[in-house]
Amino acid sequence: MIIAIDGPAGAGKSTVARGLAKALGLDLLDTGAMYRAFALAAFRKGSDFNVFELIDQVQIDFGPSPERKIRLDGVDVSDEIRSLEISQMASQLSTVSEVRRAMVATQQSIISLGNWVLEGRDVTTVVAPKADLKIFLTASIEERARRRWVEMVAKGDTVSLPAVVKEVVERDHRDYTRDDSPLMLAEDAIIVESFGLSPDEIIERIVAMTQ
Ligand code: C5P
Repeated sequence: MIIAIDGPAGAGKSTVARGLAKALGLDLLDTGAMYRAFALAAFRKGSDFNVFELIDQVQIDFGPSPERKIRLDGVDVSDEIRSLEISQMASQLSTVSEVRRAMVATQQSIISLGNWVLEGRDVTTVVAPKADLKIFLTASIEERARRRWVEMVAKGDTVSLPAVVKEVVERDHRDYTRDDSPLMLAEDAIIVESFGLSPDEIIERIVAMTQ
């Protein structure tokens, strides 16, 4: 079984995907973490890198289940990839077709065996167009930015809410308007509006859709 969840930043995809994977005994593939790890690799190179060469130089994979922590060249980078800076870089680099092609190939090879919950921006349309269940998880920009901000502050980040709103607006724009596989609603995806629902309630609804 493959459940694919797409949606804009801060819609709650990660929490819901994690809960769904646990509830249904599926493995979890966070495709955004891969773009973020690639962005971190670029960030570490400073201005001195060629994006096409970097694709072949870095190794991005996941540690063992159930945590499946994202790794860059074998090292867990799951905390480092969550900053605003890396979010922005990930969204910029994800507009490069060669980067997308490499990520999608790896993602499709990962899910070729087993049962998965996937989350990202193109998993219902490009990575797993034949998924058994496709969800488009969304909420208003205010709600999504507020959630991201609460999450970051809880982790000790001193970022302001307006800075997070700005970042989410910019990222939305780029994700929806890029030429190569933009974020869009797949024809057969079910829209789930996350405002006013707890993650558990959303997970319950989606579990019910699988039965
Ligand atoms: O989901 P997350 O916020 O971690 O993703 C970071 C960025 O990676 C997104 O803003 C988006 O630009 C990019 N991304 C993508 N395709 C995916 C997953 C993420 O382009 N499948």
